[in-house]
Parts: sequence; C-alpha cells; structure tokens
Amino acid sequence: MRILSAASECAPFIKTGGLADVVSALPVALAAEGAEMRVLLPAYPALAGLAAKGETALSLRKLHGGPARVVAARAEGLDLLLLDAPHLFDRPGNPYLAPDGKDWPDNHLRFGALSAIAAKIAREGVGDWRPDVLHAHDWQAGLVPAYLKLGAGASPPSLITIHNIAFQGVFPADVLTLLDLPKSAFTIGGVEYYGNVSFLKAGLVYADRITTVSPTYARELTAPEFGMGLEGVIAARRTDVRGILNGVDLDVWNPETDKALVETYSAGKPKNRRGNRAALAERFGLDLKKDTPLFCVISRLTRQKGLDLLLECLPRLLGRGARLAVLGSGDKDLESAFAAAAKAHPGRIGVVIGYDEALSHLLQGGSDVIVIPSRFEPCGLTQLYGLRYGCLPLVGRTGGLADTVIDANEAAIADGVATGFQFAPIAAAPLGDAIDRACDAYANRTIWKSMMRRAMRSDVGWDRSAAAYYALYQELTGMRPEDRAEEETR
Ligand code: ADP
Repeated sequence: MRILSAASECAPFIKTGGLADVVSALPVALAAEGAEMRVLLPAYPALAGLAAKGETALSLRKLHGGPARVVAARAEGLDLLLLDAPHLFDRPGNPYLAPDGKDWPDNHLRFGALSAIAAKIAREGVGDWRPDVLHAHDWQAGLVPAYLKLGAGASPPSLITIHNIAFQGVFPADVLTLLDLPKSAFTIGGVEYYGNVSFLKAGLVYADRITTVSPTYARELTAPEFGMGLEGVIAARRTDVRGILNGVDLDVWNPETDKALVETYSAGKPKNRRGNRAALAERFGLDLKKDTPLFCVISRLTRQKGLDLLLECLPRLLGRGARLAVLGSGDKDLESAFAAAAKAHPGRIGVVIGYDEALSHLLQGGSDVIVIPSRFEPCGLTQLYGLRYGCLPLVGRTGGLADTVIDANEAAIADGVATGFQFAPIAAAPLGDAIDRACDAYANRTIWKSMMRRAMRSDVGWDRSAAAYYALYQELTGMRPEDRAEEETR
C-alpha cells in the first residue's frame, strides 16, 4: 500500500501545532503496518537545504508565477517530496503569516499550488512510485480532493483529516479561475462558502472519507457550537466521517529514560517522582509537603483551553491546601491574571510564562494532576503525556479528552480502571467539584497509586491509530485483508 500524504507542516522541520506531529509520526507508525507513506511538503527555508541536495523528481516551467520542481529527499526517517517553488515558499518564519502578523496575501496560490501538485502526483506518480491513496491534511491541502474529483481521468481515492476546524482557508470567489477549478464547482454543494471559496469545505465535499483526531470530536463537529459553520457539510457526510485518536511518541515521552527529568521512574516504581516534585517546588517557588497535591497546567493560554475557569476555581483549589504550577503563554490578559495570582499567593501558586519543552516534561514527571479544562479539544496531547507520566489528567468532557481519560467515578475506582477526572458541562462549578474529587482521591494513597499505575499503563502510542488509518486506506482501495497478508509475506 502506497500513500501520498499532503500537508503544510511536518515535525521537526516546520511546526505550528499538533498537525506537524501527526504528519511526521504517521509514516513511521504505518511502516510497521507494511504501508509506504511519502509526505509532500512545501520547501520552506527550513527545508531548502534538503531540497538542494535531493533528487529532482518532477519539473514545472511555471506554477503560479514561477518555476517549480518536486524533490525527493529522505530525512528523519521520512520519505519526503518537497515542492521547491521559491517564489511561493522561500519565506522565513511562520508558514502562513507575513512578518506583519497577517496572512500572506497569496496563501490561496501557495496552498493551491501544493494541492495541485499533490493531485498531479496522486494521478501520475513520481518516477515509478504511484500512490494508491491520497491523504490530505487540513485546509492547506483541502483542494487536493477537489482537483482529483473534478479533473478528467482516473484518480486514486482520497481522504482528508481535520486537525483544526477553526482554520478553513476562505478566499474570494475569483480565486477559482486562478486555481484552474471549474466555475461549476462554485455551488453550495461544491466549494462555495457564503459567497467565498473555502479550501477546507472543498476537501470535505470531495474527499472519499473524512477523519478527525478523536471519535468524540467527530460527533461534536456536526453541532453548530463545534462545527464553526461547516457542521452541515460534515453532517451530510456523516457515514464517511471517522474519528481516529492521535498517539504520542513513546520514545520522546518515556519517564524511564527522559533526560529532562531529575529522576526517571516507571509504573512499577513511581516513588522516584519525588525528585522531580522537589525540583518543581524549587523552580516554581512552591511550599510543597508530601501530602500536598500539586496541580499543573502546560498550555497555550487561549479561550479554547478554558483556563479562565481555573482562575475562578483558585480559591477552591487553595482552600484544599493544593498547589498550582502553570507553564504557558498566549493571551495577554490570561498571562497577567495568572502572574497576578502567583503574586497574590506566593509559595502556593507558581507561574512561568513562556514555552519551555524541558520544563513541560519535568511538570509531567513531578506534578500529581494536570488540569485541562478545554472548551473544545480535537484530540489533545498533554492529557496523553499526563497518563504516561502518572500525572493524572483532570479534563473537560469534550473531544479527545473525553475519549482518553477514564473518570474516577465510584464504579471505575471499584473496578480499578480510573485514570483521571472528567467534568461536564465545561464551567467553573463542575471544574471546582472535579478539583475536590481529585484532592479526595489524592488523600487516599491506595486509590491514588492504583490510578497512577493504571494511567501509566494506558495505551497512548501510535500502533492502534496506525492500524485504524491502515484499515481505512484498505476500505478506500477495496483491498481485502488476505491481499494485505500476501503483501506482508512478500
Ligand atoms: P494544542 O495543539 O491545541 O496547543 P495539544 O495538547 O494538542 O494542544 O498540544 C500542545 C502541545 O504543546 C503539547 O505537546 C504541550 O506539551 C505543548 N505545550 C503547550 N504549551 C507549552 C509551553 N508553554 N511550554 C512547553 N510546551 C507547551
């Protein structure tokens, strides 16, 4: 099975969010399933060196105003196809934003070009490599399914994954002609979106299957409060929509080997977390005793993440004698509110404003609870790291948070299956109740230890998700399981 993945980000080369992690993890996880995935990416400056050394697989005299080529390269264990078009992609910094912080004015051409080339490779292949399936990610590759369905001749089946529906790639109607798409597609059943063209909608309409990054988010997306204007389109395709959870990199996030920790530990020996706790007390200036629960936050500070609700619950949290360590950056009002809380409660609340990868590992390795009160969360990664590190997640019951954390209700505790705390609806009072429940559970060492062990043994790797994607590719190509067995023995 050969799959062409088309995306605008891929870790570690270019990353603004979770999309990049998924795009780079999937080919590796799929290789274990016997599938071969190549990733088509724009050759941004971060990839220009690779593009210069790689092998030209395709040349075009003109692509939206300049020459372009596709270069095959291998790096970080990935087979890459780099769209080298300097007039479109040789721009430093954020892949979507100009230095003035606004979208590049030609983003429709830049990602239209990426989509057109992905469709060309999907149909014609490069060299003797021809994909069986096209997998597009987010709005930047949203036009690929449209080019495949609306163009002449045979094309492979396609699927699109929604990582973040908040970004939809909406442009004025006249871009349709510039992008060589037929005017007939400008209808409500096509790419038209309230008088404009939406790249994401194009993907959702023309792809053979749609996935998003958790089963609950897949259901939520058909409701107006989550679908952000595309709920009707998704509801109409309901039978073709699937939710497949993201996994985490089990080597990077491994408490037994993690170099960012002061002390490594395992599910069998969680006691060693003590050293990390002590390091956190020092770093965040916290007065921490053995029986004081330590809550943490590692997050972008935005409305999505619901941390304004945690601010409301601080009196309750402190009233229980708990402590809070916050690592985050984002909206200035949230940054200042947390900084002010730390100032008002020295020794009890500690705040670091900024992005610090190593400190995020230490927080997972030394705190007792990670609080994630998101209003919506397509999948979420920090709760998965929390499970793996025995830092029990306390989460809003939404999206991937609902699918990955088992709430410590009485039955779950009795059955020994609880791994964290969920609350609903997403509001301050239910969050406060969940904080109380977490403090109660923490006070019972038998319950807490059993929850930690269970959490640390949760399956948060990529294997299951890769198998689910593989099954979907098979469904799309009509490949039977026995064909796959044959392919594996070859
Ligand atoms: P989102 O992609 O919506 O921000 P996720 O939970 O899917 O949320 O992923 C967030 C990622 O960013 C996680 O890997 C988390 O550890 C990391 N992260 C967020 N804020 C910080 C920070 N201030 N410092 C270090 N890592 C952070």
